[in-house]
Amino acid sequence: MNAADSEVVGAIVKQAGYELTDDVYEADVIFVNTCSIRENAEQRVKKRLIEFDSLRKKKSWLKVGVLGCMAERLQTQLVQECKVNLVVGPDSYRDIPSLLLQADNQPGISVELSTDETYSDINPVKLHSDGVTAFISIMRGCENFCSYCVVPYTRGRERSRDPKTIVDEAKDLFKRGYREVTLLGQNVNSYIWNKGCEDEVDFACLMEMVAQIDPLLRVRFSTSHPKDMSQKLLDTIAKYDNICKFIHLPLQSGSSRMLKLMNRKYTREEYMQKIDAIRKTIPDCGLSTDIIAGFCTETLEDHQDTLSMMRYAAYDSAFMFNYSQRSNTLAAKKYEDDIPYQEKTRRLEQIIDLQRELSLESNKKDVGKVFEVLVEGESKRKSSQLFGRNSQNKVIIFDRKDFQKGDYVKVRVTDCTSATLFGETI
Ligand code: SAH
Ligand code: SF4
Repeated sequence: MNAADSEVVGAIVKQAGYELTDDVYEADVIFVNTCSIRENAEQRVKKRLIEFDSLRKKKSWLKVGVLGCMAERLQTQLVQECKVNLVVGPDSYRDIPSLLLQADNQPGISVELSTDETYSDINPVKLHSDGVTAFISIMRGCENFCSYCVVPYTRGRERSRDPKTIVDEAKDLFKRGYREVTLLGQNVNSYIWNKGCEDEVDFACLMEMVAQIDPLLRVRFSTSHPKDMSQKLLDTIAKYDNICKFIHLPLQSGSSRMLKLMNRKYTREEYMQKIDAIRKTIPDCGLSTDIIAGFCTETLEDHQDTLSMMRYAAYDSAFMFNYSQRSNTLAAKKYEDDIPYQEKTRRLEQIIDLQRELSLESNKKDVGKVFEVLVEGESKRKSSQLFGRNSQNKVIIFDRKDFQKGDYVKVRVTDCTSATLFGETI
């Protein structure tokens, strides 16, 4: 999401006459787009800000700006502690050009959250793009208030973007050679446009509209909240070949007691039913998840529930984290962060080890199968090889031959590790 937001900021500053550079030494203005989701994300940003402050000793006119969730959360504190010139929250990016003009005289701060800003008229500038895959933001904010999560406070109210502008952006990307778009939101299942009206568009309709642009344009999405994952969406995924057979369905915990404390609004049993529905409707669906280890009051039994749920869902991959308390969240106010760091880490390691096993098992099942792979670029290890992903979002590496980025190739899987498939084109 931050990568997509940086591309919006790129477009805004470019339109104001600035040129973009990747070289921090060449830049007159440096923006750091930030994440507050866990404490260590913020620590890393603070280290970078110290580095950038030292650059300013040689270049007095250098401006440093903090964008995104940390800007929203810490506001003037960033000016005082990290000596930054600009602090701009996620809904204020249009203010950046005017703030920059005044930044010689005073720090520029704009952190007002909005109820309707979606940057829908801005055509993002692609940064670090492979020219094949792209993100499209379809909504902003979140109102789920999971008790551990800072996002509703830093990104504000949930709002959906005009579907016409989403489809236009996807069409434009396809024309420019892109072959895959990922529709982004904190909870894409609650995407809704013109609710209750004749021309209402929900997420399944939106997916359909984007899938119909061209059969050669792959469509993905992230993230879907289990409580809102509808059968209609599963049927839409199954119906279109170019909607990728891959769902990221964050579990967080396999224990109903934990899920209640987390305010996730589903139980272990309900989550299992969602998994069953996915397996039934889309038998070849890839599945990934997010898991938090050591949330407040988590017992060993709760932890075991998470491990057994991982086996039940047989995830292909997962993002796994230690619980990190964030100030102002419901959990920080109501519950004690009572699992010692070492114990959290021990549980997290068990979760990671199990996921590695599950990923390897899943990959081994793919050996011998043939997949359609969209080529994304050169393999990092060998320039004679290319890499791409199959519909299920698994990375496959194979010999280059005459293929290029953006091609669809048929690949037979010959070998695997827990992280990667290896294959030969046929
Ligand atoms: N909207 C997405 C999640 C975005 S945050 C969703 O609900 O699926 C990405 C992930 O970060 C979450 O799924 C959760 O696993 C993790 N996360 C969020 N807050 C956290 C915290 N305080 N400590 C540890 N992990 C956290
Ligand atoms: Fe955070 Fe929950 Fe919203 Fe995801 S759905 S961003 S975890 S509050």
